[in-house]
Amino acid sequence: MLCGKRRLLPTYNRAVDNRSWPERIDFDRRHIWHPFTQMKEHETAPPLAVVGGSGVDLVLADGRTIFDGTASWWTSLHGHCPPRLVAALARQAAALDHAMFAGFTHAPAIDLTARLTERLPKALSRIFFSDNGSTSVEVALKMTFQAAFQRGERQRTKIGALRGAYHGDTLGAVGVGELENFMTSVFAPLLLRCERAEVPSDPRRLVTGDRDGHDAEAHARIESAARALELYFDTCGAQLAAFVCEPLVQGAGGMFMWPPELLRTLRAQCTAHGVSLIFDEVMTGFGRTGTFLASEQAGVVPDVLCLSKMLTGGLLPLAVTCATDALFDDFWGEPGDGRAFLHGHSYTANPIACAVAAESLALFEETRVLEHAAALATTLRAAWRTLAAHPALRDARTLGAIAAARLVDPRTGHPYSASQREGLALHLRALDEGLLVRPIGDCVYLVPPLTAPLDRVDAAVAALGRALPS
Ligand code: PLP
Repeated sequence: MLCGKRRLLPTYNRAVDNRSWPERIDFDRRHIWHPFTQMKEHETAPPLAVVGGSGVDLVLADGRTIFDGTASWWTSLHGHCPPRLVAALARQAAALDHAMFAGFTHAPAIDLTARLTERLPKALSRIFFSDNGSTSVEVALKMTFQAAFQRGERQRTKIGALRGAYHGDTLGAVGVGELENFMTSVFAPLLLRCERAEVPSDPRRLVTGDRDGHDAEAHARIESAARALELYFDTCGAQLAAFVCEPLVQGAGGMFMWPPELLRTLRAQCTAHGVSLIFDEVMTGFGRTGTFLASEQAGVVPDVLCLSKMLTGGLLPLAVTCATDALFDDFWGEPGDGRAFLHGHSYTANPIACAVAAESLALFEETRVLEHAAALATTLRAAWRTLAAHPALRDARTLGAIAAARLVDPRTGHPYSASQREGLALHLRALDEGLLVRPIGDCVYLVPPLTAPLDRVDAAVAALGRALPS
């Protein structure tokens, strides 16, 4: 048993540390199971060893420095290892590493809540903590379902969600998602009951073509989709506890950009049919689309909001599910009367993560990130326009600091088959150009850290142009 001042030496780590990188990679291949990966592929294309991060760059063990064109799965806000956040992390770790959050509270959680509620729509005044985007959605689903149950609306046994959605990888989140590459059909017998609605793409996001034509087309699509949504709610609204969507852009669904006007339709329909509206802004929150929340662009406030990814600036896992007072009131009652929200995780509201998130929000305001994000959006759109004519790209589009296009075989104009592994080939060629891109299916995209210098973004788009198939 360990006691007193005796320290447990990290012998296992030391043994590994003494290995060369090829030995470590070999060890990794034999013992580690990586996410979203057919591990057999690592026999020929081993994982990249990353040893450092600074600003927009990641440093690889082989000495290469690459521009992080994915913002490390869309998490990096101020760039990698920003000194202010690293210092906040160290300070908090030395003061209080962790304490359970049931029956306890602490300054970092309170400070972060104060900063967040200042920034969010007034109605979203209750903050529930968890650890990642998927759990923030799980919490939202359970919260809205239980609220309906406790209001006596027991017929609300389903959740509404959009076609092509992605809300995470835990079973509840998979149930409201609809992406075959995330195995929705394999898990079908285990998933919750979901009714699908559809929204059209927004032609105004395209970087090419005739602006008036795009406006007219968008108008027609919005009108028809709004009618279809009304019909959808008339048909199944009474059975829905909640409706969940990713405002403006479905990220993992291939950066599918859809019209903000339809968020207003969804808000109106949810209100009319007594359905809680959940916005999953795990990817879009903190300025990614140009506004602090994507839903601000429609002037719409949900009943529940999910945030994660850039919440800590990209340093640590943390998520929040923000709810209205009205929803919170559905859980109010006497101890023991069974109305409490009985959900939590061991690391709920971890003080270190909360301290870093609070510091990140302070830095966000002080360095006027939204102003830089606007300049970044303009630069990215102009650069993407120059790339749009490339024969390997179709449907080039941008929204804020997100640029995306469909990858096709430039010789035929047709999509590559999955077995051709062109996404992987592009990823490897881009690395040789000093750029990290990781296409999702046939969607090639750039999502740089939000504070990326404009000239670096220009250079990243040029590097991508050189890496595209010819
Ligand atoms: N929701 C959205 C919109 C996402 O884009 C993601 C992840 O990409 C998630 C939820 C799940 O987040 P996490 O990977 O942190 O569980």
